[in-house]
Amino acid sequence: MDLFEYQARDLFEAHNIPVLAGAVATTAEEAERAAESMGGKVVVKAQVKVGGRGKAGGVKLAEDSADAKVKASAILGMDIKGHTVHKVMIAQAAPIAEEYYMAILLDRANRNFLVMASVAGGMEIEEVAHTSPEKLARVGIDPNVGISREKALEIVAAGQFPSDIADSVADVLLKLWAAFVAEDATLMEINPLVKTVDGRIIALDGKVTLDDNAEFRHPSHEALIDHAAANPLEAAAKEKGLNYVKLEGEVGIIGNGAGLVMSTLDVVAYAGEKYGVKPANFLDIGGGASAQVMADGLSIILGDPEVRSVFVNVFGGITACDAVANGIVQALEILGAKATKPIVVRLDGNNVVEGRRILDEAAHPLVQQLDTMDGAAAKAAELAAK
Ligand code: GDP
Ligand code: MN
Repeated sequence: MDLFEYQARDLFEAHNIPVLAGAVATTAEEAERAAESMGGKVVVKAQVKVGGRGKAGGVKLAEDSADAKVKASAILGMDIKGHTVHKVMIAQAAPIAEEYYMAILLDRANRNFLVMASVAGGMEIEEVAHTSPEKLARVGIDPNVGISREKALEIVAAGQFPSDIADSVADVLLKLWAAFVAEDATLMEINPLVKTVDGRIIALDGKVTLDDNAEFRHPSHEALIDHAAANPLEAAAKEKGLNYVKLEGEVGIIGNGAGLVMSTLDVVAYAGEKYGVKPANFLDIGGGASAQVMADGLSIILGDPEVRSVFVNVFGGITACDAVANGIVQALEILGAKATKPIVVRLDGNNVVEGRRILDEAAHPLVQQLDTMDGAAAKAAELAAK
């Protein structure tokens, strides 16, 4: 999960990384009040999860709280690389003398972590990395060893920081590493890390990605989720414990087992070319396809206004086809009038004959069975095109 800048700021503060006062606002009036309580000059910053806000006009200096209101109303609602700005952060302005760069990230290819640090930070860091790579120190970190003070000083020297600030920059790096480990992050970036005219080292902008696989260890991270951005169907599916991903298409897909569902998407995409339709989602209902799970899955898919037909593709294993067929029949009873779209079912595998018989006997008007995956995909695509 990627965090907003204001969330990264708060996380940094909690780990004693030097930051300035900051507050988030969703209206120009809120921004004005926040600026007023901070006093003096502030920076109004668009909160979008995309880089290059500064260059896009999403970061503006305001002279006072009245000016902050004007700047906030200009930035709120702005579109930055396809992201609409719904929130701004009001940050105390810093008198910047120099801008540096510091980041820790997971380096999957090398199975360790990577620290990057440079005295030449700021908005041109990509340019620096490209044209003068010697200014950007890149140092691999063994996760079992971590970063000692000695190592931190080595990195700071390699990043060409002047010796008078080496200690304080190394200090920030050690704190950033501690935060990175404690929060199970895969990325923590400070750009710019600045030296103010009075010589303080401060993190002015932060970018943080947290490792979702570690979320069970961090109940506090739940509060950082941006529910407004989540797709409502995906959110509803998550609540029901379903493995669902919304796609752009018309053929709803339900299958058991991630591999089968992935290949079902391919087959439907191929069959759909003829009709100009595509798979509408990924949904793996897993091994034990109970009636309730089938009903939950169907109701999520039928709730997608784009969906015009549904393809249920099940290979009976430990949960045999008869159990799945009963699940489908009962799911349709549970859904009642909420089931409104044609459903193509292809059963195969363990106890397939009995499974097909159960569906034939139920003779639900929306359900039709096909024997093969290709045939069922073609039928579902054809129905979606009608
Ligand atoms: P980004 O473009 O999305 O990375 O946004 P940043 O937060 O890094 O801001 C971009 C640039 O705005 C920085 O590199 C600074 O030059 C400038 N900036 C940000 N905050 C301040 C501040 O408090 N004071 C001053 N003078 N400039 C700032
Ligand atoms: Mn930045």
